[in-house]
Amino acid sequence: MTNFAKHDIISNDPTEKEKRNTLKSTGIVRKIDGFGRIVVPVEMRRALQLADNVDSLEIYCEGNLIVLRKYAPGANEVREASVARRVDELGRVLIPKEVRKGLGITDVYNDLEFFTREDGCILLGLYIHSCCFCGGADGLRSFREKLVCAHCLRELGEMSGERG
Ligand SMILES: [Zn+2]
Repeated sequence: MTNFAKHDIISNDPTEKEKRNTLKSTGIVRKIDGFGRIVVPVEMRRALQLADNVDSLEIYCEGNLIVLRKYAPGANEVREASVARRVDELGRVLIPKEVRKGLGITDVYNDLEFFTREDGCILLGLYIHSCCFCGGADGLRSFREKLVCAHCLRELGEMSGERG
């Protein structure tokens, strides 16, 4: 059910590839809000034993994915360009602006898909919606809970014109 572009996240580096292989899709897609916050699903917070409003998540980029892992100073190797952000009382975490920008998250493209990995990290990838007919993403409109792009919509319109 995912339209996440898998080829984008698979690199040729064998160690990278190995890491990717352990990626598990959760099927959870959530919107990042206007302030850059996203609710981490409760089951994932539980799995990481994250206490809301107490614990923090370490956030960094890995290719086209955002990695979240429990912030545990001293327990993990220090990562360059990672930031620690506290999980708020609603289970939300603020994704830094640079990270959002790097991933291409905008006011329009703001759905993120959650993945888990065997090492306990949570990964977020930009979820691009697409047309149910052609997979395109131009001028998407929804019709009966399916998305149709402008091109297909036009063709459908022409079809109905022919019939009439
Ligand atoms: Zn289409």
